[in-house]
Formats: sequence, C-alpha cells, structure tokens
Amino acid sequence: MYHFFKKGIILFFIILWFGMAFFVYQKYTLADKKEKELLAFRNQFIKRQKEQKKKPFFDKNFKIESDNDSKKDSLQNKDNQNVSEKNLQQNFSQKKEGDSKKENQELKTQKEQTQEKEKRSIQKQEKTKQTEEVVIKDKKCGEFPCYTSDEFVQVYENFEKESGLPILPKYIYNNKKADEHIRQLAEKRGYKKRVFADETKLVSFGKYRTQPALLKNYRAMRDAMKKEGISLHFVSGYRSSSHQRRIFKNKMGNINVGRIQYGDYDEKINRALEISAIPGYSKHHSGYAVDFGCGNDYLVYSFNTTKCYEWLTKNNFENAKRFGFIPSYPKGVTKQGPNPESWEFLWVGRDRIQHFFDHKI
Ligand SMILES: [Zn+2]
Repeated sequence: MYHFFKKGIILFFIILWFGMAFFVYQKYTLADKKEKELLAFRNQFIKRQKEQKKKPFFDKNFKIESDNDSKKDSLQNKDNQNVSEKNLQQNFSQKKEGDSKKENQELKTQKEQTQEKEKRSIQKQEKTKQTEEVVIKDKKCGEFPCYTSDEFVQVYENFEKESGLPILPKYIYNNKKADEHIRQLAEKRGYKKRVFADETKLVSFGKYRTQPALLKNYRAMRDAMKKEGISLHFVSGYRSSSHQRRIFKNKMGNINVGRIQYGDYDEKINRALEISAIPGYSKHHSGYAVDFGCGNDYLVYSFNTTKCYEWLTKNNFENAKRFGFIPSYPKGVTKQGPNPESWEFLWVGRDRIQHFFDHKI
C-alpha cells in the first residue's frame, strides 16, 4: 500500500513538471512564433501599400476622369487599409500585454478578420483598375487616343530619347563665359538641349532638308488637304547648328560680346529667345520638326488663323495624327523656350501616336 502511494507521488510530480514545462514553452516559444507571423504579415501589408503608391503617371491622370463609383471604391479601399492598419496596431499592443492562451486565440481571430478585410480590399482594387482601363480605352478622339497638351509634349520627348540621335555641344559666340550666360537664360525659359540628325540620312525638298519619313507623310497630308481646297506649304525643316547660330545672332544684332557675361544684354537676349532658339537647343536639329505656311500667306506668324490650322487641329489634331504629326506647342503648355509657335509640327509617326498609352498602362 505504501509502495503504491510512493509511486503515485512520483507520478504526480512528473506530471506537474511536464505541465510547467509546457506552460513555459507555450509562453515563450509559441508566442515568439506568433509575433513573427504577425510581423511578416505587417511587412506584407506595408509592401502592398507602397506598391499602390507607385502607380504609373498616366493612371493617376485617368483616375481623375474615372467614374464616381471607382472613386468611391478607392476611397473605401483607403478606409479598409486604415482599418487593417489599426487592427494590426491593436494586435501588437495587445500582444505585449497578453500572456494567456485565451488572448492568443483572440489575436488569431483578429488576424483572420484583418486578412479577410485585406482580401476584400484587393478585390475592390482590381475592380477599380478594370473600370479605369475601360475609361482609357474609351478616351478616343476619332481613331486615335485623345491627348492632353502635356501628353503631346511627352510623346516627342520620348521619341527623341528613343531615336538614338546624339545631343551635341554647340557654341554660340565661341566665348565661353558669354555662351554660358546665354545658355542659362535660355534654359530658364525652358529651352532644352536637343538631338541632332545624321545629315547623310536626310532628304532634300526644294531648298530644305528633312527626315525621309517626315517628307513622305508631309506630301501625303498636303495632297489630302489639296483635295479639300486647302494649300499647305513646307516653310522650314532641318536646321544645322550654324544655321541656328546665324538666325540667333541676326536677332541679336551688333553687340559687344565681352559684356554679355555681365548681364548688359539680358533684355536683348530674352527678346531674341522669344522667337529663336540658340544652337544646340532647337527641335529643328533632329530633322523631325517642320514649320508650315498656308495658302497665299507664307508668313508663319498668322498660321493659327488659317484653314490649314483649322484642318490640322480639329478633334484633338486628328488629321495631323493620321499622318504622324503632332503640335510642337500645344495650347497651354508654357516654359518650352520661345513664345508658342502654332506653325511648328513634329513628326513622330502614326504608330507611336496610336500606341503611346499602351505601354503606359
Ligand atoms: Zn520651327
């Protein structure tokens, strides 16, 4: 009987020991694991939030024009994110205090709820994205996408970048300090260094030179306009740096070059820059810019009052786009260098105009 009692006490202590060991394990090891899980979950959440912020530029623009539903959706998404974030923070603060199994269980339930909300939020985001894409596809001006003025500018900037043509340093007066001073004034107005055509690849058209693709499309466009009784003229094409230098210096007249760096001619320089680029800064250097005249009036300055201008610009420049042309100075775009020149067009190709937004989405 005593023997049996002794065995019972030993067994009792063994069970007690195991119980305590399990309790300690539960408190430290399992709790650790849970915290790690929560941390991983939180990191994932933060990562997703960052990805949302990285949405491409064009998406943002179109978001403004997407319907109210998707706006509401995205607002709700934000709310959901805030709720999820709050829940997570609660989880963490409770985690610190909690030391019993019961609280662990509560945390688990909260985590599941947060995950569920996350899931719903992602589903809504996908729905919003789909709506936006539909809006983009619908945004058509005739057979082409509609462009804002800034987008027209961006098309040509991309076109130059992808052309593989070089930007070349060119002098103005061949006086280092004077040239630098003028360049600073020009860049302040929005002039940019521009790429240069390979002259051996240009074609001649009367007294002008230009890119072969531009000439081919100019001829086709001119003929299409002729059929409607409108006569378009080619007034200026490719310009070399020496040609641009002659134009600029001509506008400046007789000056004392040595005084330029001291600002003596700033007013004169700015007046010249209103109508003329400095060598190295003209879009005509690429051979993809063209100045148009119209009818009997070859003077480009009144181009925006002509039938040619009306024909080229209507419905977001639909006719110009058909032949691969876009405006060089679309309405409302400032800080491009000279005063806006309604007569200057750029050739970037019909395909690029049609598919510019495809890779932006
Ligand atoms: Zn021009």
